Amino acid sequence: MKKILLALLAALLLNTQTAQADPLLTVHPLGDGIFALIGPTGGRLHENFGLNANYGVIDTPDGAILIDSGASTAAAQLLANEARKLTGKAVKWVINTGSQDHRWLGNAYFSQQGAQIIALARTTRTQAALGTGQIESLKGELKEQMADTLPFTATPALSGERVPLTLGGRQVELRYAADAHFAGDIVVWLPEQQLLFAGDHIYVDRLLSILPDSNPANWRQAFEQIIALQPKRIVPGHGRVCDVAQAQRETGDYLQFVVKGTRQLAEEMAGVDAAVAQLSAAPAFAHLKNFNDLHRGNINRAYLHFEAAQ
Ligand SMILES: [Zn+2]
Repeated sequence: MKKILLALLAALLLNTQTAQADPLLTVHPLGDGIFALIGPTGGRLHENFGLNANYGVIDTPDGAILIDSGASTAAAQLLANEARKLTGKAVKWVINTGSQDHRWLGNAYFSQQGAQIIALARTTRTQAALGTGQIESLKGELKEQMADTLPFTATPALSGERVPLTLGGRQVELRYAADAHFAGDIVVWLPEQQLLFAGDHIYVDRLLSILPDSNPANWRQAFEQIIALQPKRIVPGHGRVCDVAQAQRETGDYLQFVVKGTRQLAEEMAGVDAAVAQLSAAPAFAHLKNFNDLHRGNINRAYLHFEAAQ
């Protein structure tokens, strides 16, 4: 009996240890001092600090570059520590790929630490319009983690659609394709490594989410433009590091399914309920995480988008 109890206790201890050792963000080294930080694919939770997305760290002789800054000041501090651990350096540049909360609400923290925030003007326009509302709605789940979180956008923001930049000899390119998941979302392209940080244009392992602010038709076009770069590897906005084929199967093909189906039904004025009923079975994508929670809503919003465009 005593033996069993001891074994149980040991198992319990081991469990706690693995739970504690379980990092919030999984580090995926991509070579050349480039790292993907892969967040959980579920929802924003207090325990994940709203870091349910992917981030990037690029080491350069002149300081670290961080891609996206987290959903709060508390999350930003975690990202700063992670960047310091990986590069031994402070974050010098923060590049924002988009306007969803977990992409940019850590900006104020990094700016106070002396980092330069970098974003296209088209991205900061959306951020400025959404920031206060995003902070309010995150307070319910993230609570005290939202303290001192302010909507801080890059100043001056960069004009244009394609902006190549260099830090410490490292080339990074900010590229805009179309107003997709949110207006003004971009990707970060590393031409030397043929590596793509896709932001919210690409989701793998989990189903993508078409939001009221998303433009599904543009998103599909943006996806095609980005994939034409033929990246050797892709750090998607959500899900593990992937290749072009997986991005095509889990984002490109899904967008095609939704856009084609809802556009046609909207043209036929089938009605939103009929569209959801007809398109709710999508066996090619049903294995993706969050499918049951998100797919019907995606159809609903895409249909309404095309109906309004009629
Ligand atoms: Zn996202």
